[in-house]
Amino acid sequence: MWKDNLKDADPEIFGLGEQETKRINEGLELIPSENFPSRAVLQALGSVFNNKYAEGYPGRRYYGGNEFIDIVENIAIERAKKLFGCEHVNVQPYSGSPANIEVYFALMNFGDTLMGMNLSQGGHLTHGHKVNFSGRAYKIAQYGVDPKTHLIDYDEVRKIALQEKPKILLSGATAYPRKIDFKAFAEIAQECGAISMADIAHIAGLIVGGVHPSPFPFTDVVTTTTHKTLRGPRGAIIMCKERFAKDIDKAVFPGMQGGPHEHAIAAKAVAFREAAKPEFREYAHQIVKNAKALADALMAHGFALVSGGTDNHLILIDLTQKGLSGGEAETSLDKAGITVNKNTVPYDTRSPFDPSGIRLGTPTITTRGMKEGEMKHVADLINKAINNHKDDMALAKVREEVKELCRHFPVY
Ligand SMILES: *Cc1c(COP(=O)(O)O)cnc(C)c1O
Repeated sequence: MWKDNLKDADPEIFGLGEQETKRINEGLELIPSENFPSRAVLQALGSVFNNKYAEGYPGRRYYGGNEFIDIVENIAIERAKKLFGCEHVNVQPYSGSPANIEVYFALMNFGDTLMGMNLSQGGHLTHGHKVNFSGRAYKIAQYGVDPKTHLIDYDEVRKIALQEKPKILLSGATAYPRKIDFKAFAEIAQECGAISMADIAHIAGLIVGGVHPSPFPFTDVVTTTTHKTLRGPRGAIIMCKERFAKDIDKAVFPGMQGGPHEHAIAAKAVAFREAAKPEFREYAHQIVKNAKALADALMAHGFALVSGGTDNHLILIDLTQKGLSGGEAETSLDKAGITVNKNTVPYDTRSPFDPSGIRLGTPTITTRGMKEGEMKHVADLINKAINNHKDDMALAKVREEVKELCRHFPVY
């Protein structure tokens, strides 16, 4: 009935897929929020589980024909619970941003106070930025990092929390290269009568791999994307203590979402199975070892790193002394086959549209098998590209070197 292959049915989209695969194989993808999931995960995404309407929850659906879908979703739930050690989990959130909004919708009234980390110092848009829904629907209190150490100052967080009395105290970040003390956050929340929430989108894989402290059991509600260090499909889950379960589930469906994306839920289940294996623990440890090796090699080249290094998978470079902006660096590195993103650094004096920094990380290059030795090479290539950022010929030469390095570490 259908032409079987994308190649025959739509050569144009198929061809672009081939080009994207080539780009992935031949370049260094250093965006720390990205990863390369397994073929198994991608197969689950491209499966018949895409097709079904399954509004509701396993055993309580608004549509017939969900006998297999129910099993898939229950498997995803059980695997997530075991993997993270949480009491309750909702695997339906479409992505990290809706998951966060769903938690706010479940546990706060409009106008209540949400306290999260400032976007310009490492927080996420959904942590209360003024252009985001979170910043429009709720009163916002924000904390940042210490101007000297670039670390979260827990005394300062406590002071602000006691003063602002937030309904939710949110920890977690999108550009913070150091460990987060979730226990300290939970204790501060308890002291000021707030619900403690952690958004572990970036570091979920490090947490299940045992290289970053877990927010469990003390944190009330935890959200995570499944596509960053966790290396699953694009999507998210919400985990919580049993006493918040009913409100969270109601906020996800019917509060915010309609039919769950069961193909994504199937792929989440596959990723959770992979993440429970000893190899994944090794992978998570290697991500951090690689990030530290890359950070050391960059500093040896004279790069200034926010907080002076990293404890996790990501590195923030402040390019101020190098005499170029984050945007210029992003563009030049792109020409050299090295993908990073421009990013503000704490107390940035430039505009967020062309900030002083770039953000990079090791999840994808660790997935493809690179180790500390390659990190030194990667740092050399970055250094060469930055030092020659106006010289397109030199950048093209770096691109050839990048390709040669990547040839030994194929992805797909
Ligand atoms: C990536 C990220 C999100 C948002 O995830 P999307 O899937 O892009 O909506 C939320 N919070 C944090 C901390 C993130 O890093």
